Amino acid sequence: MSDGEPVSLNNARGRLDWILSPDPMRLAAGPGAGLTLGVLALQGDFREHRVMFEGLGARTFEVRRPGDLAGLDGLVIPGGESTTMSKLIVANDLFRPLRAFHAAGGAVYGTCAGLIMAARDTVEGAPPTLGLIDVTARRNAFGRQVHSFEADVPVARLSGGPMHAVFIRAPWIERVGEGVEVLATWEGQVVAAREGRVLVVAFHPELTDDARLHELFLHTVRGADCPVVGSEDAAAPSVGSSRAVATACANC
Ligand code: GLN
Repeated sequence: MSDGEPVSLNNARGRLDWILSPDPMRLAAGPGAGLTLGVLALQGDFREHRVMFEGLGARTFEVRRPGDLAGLDGLVIPGGESTTMSKLIVANDLFRPLRAFHAAGGAVYGTCAGLIMAARDTVEGAPPTLGLIDVTARRNAFGRQVHSFEADVPVARLSGGPMHAVFIRAPWIERVGEGVEVLATWEGQVVAAREGRVLVVAFHPELTDDARLHELFLHTVRGADCPVVGSEDAAAPSVGSSRAVATACANC
């Protein structure tokens, strides 16, 4: 964890920390206020997640070693390439610590490759996954890179209209276990789901300015069963805005 380390502007990680958290007062506002999140930073688009969650008022840190998991309320597994990410998780001795983090009640949010890593298993039987949510993922299910696409996808529990979803060599969820809540489907396939404190999505909200699913994760971290999250005004992005609060949540 980089908290307390001196900031070096010659160090990309330190520079991002400095850019994201220059003003401690800002962290007192927004749905993420008071929460500390880790973003698995071995590979993939972890910086985009940090920017989005910091905009919602959470503090974020990059996770590369088991010790980085200490003190986190939630963990983000970003998009990227799941075979590579899986190898790096093993190489960094993170496989068991990540499972232990979840078993101890830590919330987890996986996007795209992160969905694959969080899944119980894959149709293909590889790579080794963490088994944090009872779903089976199919990798590259919508086709290869050239078949990447964007679509407006309605998502349960989000008010304010569909999400503009970016699918990049995206998986879909082929099987959901009994306790899994399906949050979104596209072309008849499950593309977002939640079980307990684990939220997974096949597309990339972190590459857009729509922070509603990130906000739903913040409520998931708090253990709140929020019926509806987001602003009624879908046109207004919620990042960095104090309007980004749940409209109906007694627990937060
Ligand atoms: N297709 C990738 C994989 O299997 C995931 C793509 C992504 O994260 N955008 O890991």
